Amino acid sequence: MPDTHQAEPIPEAARAEIERLLLSGDLFRYTAPEDAPVALLEREFAALMGVRFALAVSSCSAALFLSLKALGLPRGARVLIPGFTFAAVPSAIVHADCVPVLCEVGMDYRIDLDDFAVKLPGVDAVMISHMRGHTSDMDRIMEFAEAQGVPVVEDAAHSLGTLWDGRRIGTIGRVGCFSFQSYKLVNGGEGGMLITDDADLVARAVIMSGAYEHNWKKHGALQAPFETWQNKLPLYNMRMSNLAAAVIRPQLAEIPRRVRDGRAGHDFVAERLNESPWIAVPPALPKEERAPDSIQFNLVGMTREARAAFAEAADRRGVKVQVFGLSRDNARAFWNWEFLPEQVELPRTRAMLEVACDVRLPARLSRDELEAIAEALVAAAEEVMAPERAYGT
Ligand SMILES: *Cc1c(COP(=O)(O)O)cnc(C)c1O
Repeated sequence: MPDTHQAEPIPEAARAEIERLLLSGDLFRYTAPEDAPVALLEREFAALMGVRFALAVSSCSAALFLSLKALGLPRGARVLIPGFTFAAVPSAIVHADCVPVLCEVGMDYRIDLDDFAVKLPGVDAVMISHMRGHTSDMDRIMEFAEAQGVPVVEDAAHSLGTLWDGRRIGTIGRVGCFSFQSYKLVNGGEGGMLITDDADLVARAVIMSGAYEHNWKKHGALQAPFETWQNKLPLYNMRMSNLAAAVIRPQLAEIPRRVRDGRAGHDFVAERLNESPWIAVPPALPKEERAPDSIQFNLVGMTREARAAFAEAADRRGVKVQVFGLSRDNARAFWNWEFLPEQVELPRTRAMLEVACDVRLPARLSRDELEAIAEALVAAAEEVMAPERAYGT
C-alpha cells in the first residue's frame, strides 16, 4: 500500500533559488528593496486567482485571523462558521477576540442552509470553511449574507483549484484564505495567503501582518491606502519567509496537474466505494468542480462497534481511515473544542461525524494504488458486515 502521507518532491527549480538565498542570507521578505521571493509569490498568486491583492503570511490560520482584524470586527463580534471544520478555524476567531457561532453541517459535509439562515441574524461576519474542499452552496450563502449585510470570509485552505459555477473558490467572499501547510495541494511546509479585491482591507492586513514603518512600500505597486493606516494598527508579525516562498513558487505551475489527477483519482475511488452497500460517497453539488486530495465517505447501517472494526480492518489492509467522530481528541470534532467561549450541541453534525470517514488520496497515486485502496476499503466493510460472505464458500 502507498504511504498517503508522503509528499511529492519539491520541483527542482526551488533548489537553485534556495541555494541562492542560503548564499546571500537574504531570508527576510523586507530586506531586498523589491522583488523578494515573497513579493513575487504574492504577485503570481493574485494573477493566478484573478484578484487585485494577495498577502502571503505564515499560515492559513494567520490569514483567517488577519481577515477578521482587517474587517475591523470589534471585541465580542460573533462569527458564523460550519460545525464541521478544523479546530484552527474557531481558534483564529477566538484569537481575534471574537465568538464562534456554529451551524449544522449535513451528511454531505456541507452547511445546512436552514440552520445557517436561523443563526445568521445576530452574527457580525460569516467564515465559510470549505472543509476538505467540499463547497457549500455559495449562491445561497452569499445571498443570505448580503441580505443580512455581513461580510463573508472564505476559508479555502483545502480548496485551491476548486471552482463554484466557474468561479474560483476563495474569490467569492470579501476575503479568501489559503494554506500551504504540507498536507494541502501546495506544500510549503507552512504558509498561507490572504486574497481580496478590497484595497482598504488589504492595507490593514498588510500592516498588521508585520509591514512595520514603511515596509508596505515593498508590496509592489499595490494601490491601497497604507498611509491612512500608518501607525494606527498593532503589528502581529505573521510574515512569510523567503525560504517558504521559494519552495511554493515553482509549485504553482503544478496546480492544474494536481487538480486534474486528484479529481480523477477521487472519482475513480468514489465509484468503486459506492458499489459497497455499506459505504456512501456524497456527490459534488452540480455547480462544484472539486480539487480533492482526499476522499470522505459515510458508513451505512453500521453500529459504533462495526465502524471501529471497519477502521481496524482497513488498517490491517494498509489503509489509514479516520472516522472523524470516533478517534479520541479529533481536532475536527466540535465537541473537542473545549476552548470555545460558548459550547453548543449540533445533533445533525454529530450524527455525520460519527459515520464520516477520511482517507488521503494525493494526486501522485497511480491507478493501481487507487484500485488497491478502494479494494481494501470495500473488503474491510465486507469483512465487518458480511463475514459469512467474506469467509464462506
Ligand atoms: C489546514 C486547514 C486550516 C489551517 O491551515 P494552516 O495553514 O495549517 O493554519 C484551516 N482550515 C482548513 C479547512 C484546513 O484544512
